[in-house]
Amino acid sequence: MKRIYEAPAYGPQGACFWADTVTAQDWPALTGDHRTDVAIIGGGFTGISAALQLAQDGVGVTVLEAGQPGYGASGRNGGFCCLGGAKASAGMLRRRFGAEGLAEWRATEKAAIETAAKLIEAHDITADVHSEGETLLAHTPRAFAAMRAEADTIRQTYGVTPEILPPEALRHNGLGGPFHGAVTIPLGFALNPRKYHAGLAQAAQCASARLCAHSPVTGLQRDGGWRLETPQGTVTADRVILATNGYSSEDLPDWLRARYLPVQSSVIVTRPITAAEQAAQGWTSGQMAYDSRTLLHYFRLMPDGRFLFGMRGGLRATPSAQAAIDRRIRADFHAMFPAWHEVEITHEWSGLVCLMPGLTPFAGPVPDHPGLFAGLGYHGNGVAMASHTGRILADLVQGRAPRALYPAAMRAVPRRFPLGRYRRALLAPAYWAAETFDL
Ligand SMILES: Cc1cc2nc3c(=O)[nH]c(=O)nc-3n(C[C@H](O)[C@H](O)[C@H](O)COP(=O)(O)OP(=O)(O)OC[C@H]3O[C@@H](n4cnc5c(N)ncnc54)[C@H](O)[C@@H]3O)c2cc1C
Repeated sequence: MKRIYEAPAYGPQGACFWADTVTAQDWPALTGDHRTDVAIIGGGFTGISAALQLAQDGVGVTVLEAGQPGYGASGRNGGFCCLGGAKASAGMLRRRFGAEGLAEWRATEKAAIETAAKLIEAHDITADVHSEGETLLAHTPRAFAAMRAEADTIRQTYGVTPEILPPEALRHNGLGGPFHGAVTIPLGFALNPRKYHAGLAQAAQCASARLCAHSPVTGLQRDGGWRLETPQGTVTADRVILATNGYSSEDLPDWLRARYLPVQSSVIVTRPITAAEQAAQGWTSGQMAYDSRTLLHYFRLMPDGRFLFGMRGGLRATPSAQAAIDRRIRADFHAMFPAWHEVEITHEWSGLVCLMPGLTPFAGPVPDHPGLFAGLGYHGNGVAMASHTGRILADLVQGRAPRALYPAAMRAVPRRFPLGRYRRALLAPAYWAAETFDL
């Protein structure tokens, strides 16, 4: 597998809090030779959501996951089940897909949250859900002015009324910090991603999906149908779904080379913060929140009082780059929440999200590869969107029109990033500009 980061980027990258909250799940490794209707490479939300839908539709499906269940971003994210999935601005989306395409994409963002909510309800998944929508905190007065100006657009776009909070109301609402106002969009909720993932996987298994862990696909050949090789077995399948997102390889298949860009994201979790400590900081809200910076910070007080705080990860995955990001995330956390300077940080980890050249996710058939489909590129917002994409892919591989909303923005085939395997160098100037000018 050819990959563009140093090997540790594809490893566990720290101690993930969510692993301590679930009974360790495992799936057997693939051994021997098997046949299936649909093989899925990657067992995160995209792969498992597709497998669940396929199994419910009576299609034979086998998921091949390289690590243990929930190994990728799906088992180690911030748990914000929210709007998003693209980084393209409204203007870019309108230019590329027209006003209708923009509206369709916005409707899909909203539908993706509903997809996740319905999955949780239908399969009775206990996922420690909290937060009434998502709160965006302005890091400058100018950012707050922009939020106020956007309120009407939000109302028209999503059909909900955003709540605007001026700076003087923040502390009263339990949102105390160096912020210049806030807007809450009442869409989305926070969850424990490992519990959500485990619940989906269990539902897929109950519906007869075969889930294999510790089964990295090392070869993918077209051979009438498709033949997938893992270290201890093979699968032949009529169709294949590629659901590897930020953990993708340049050569699985070659078509994928330079069409995606993995980016590291890092998270810390504290010990439970007492009510007195919360009051001292003025942050008592259970809202999931993020700030308005281009390289945003995302954070939330969880139901057990622990605080989760995440931000961009390192540009590299070397020990020195990781040490620098460890210092940086602590510095940013303490600058934003100074009263918690002495609060112990118990968990810290990183993982890979995935950017696309057109700044929109892709879901669809892989050109010139009959029977091969891919779904990836959620720009760090895939809890809802990957769950939704899995359902789109499940219909596409069956040759049927997706029952889930499938906007033009997701159908556009990704082109290639410049710089090929060195493309992550594109991130350095973008990070530098955003941080230097506090954008
Ligand atoms: C630190 C962090 C915080 C995040 N926070 C949020 C958040 O709060 N809200 C949000 O919406 N999104 C968040 N995200 C993004 C979100 O987690 C992802 O968009 C989503 O989980 C993608 O799901 P996926 O199934 O497509 O990919 P993944 O969950 O990454 O799964 C891909 C899987 O493919 C497997 N794989 C790769 N190659 C092979 C192979 N050759 N053979 C077999 N298996 C293979 C990998 O092992 C991996 O498990 C975050 C991500 C990170 C890393």
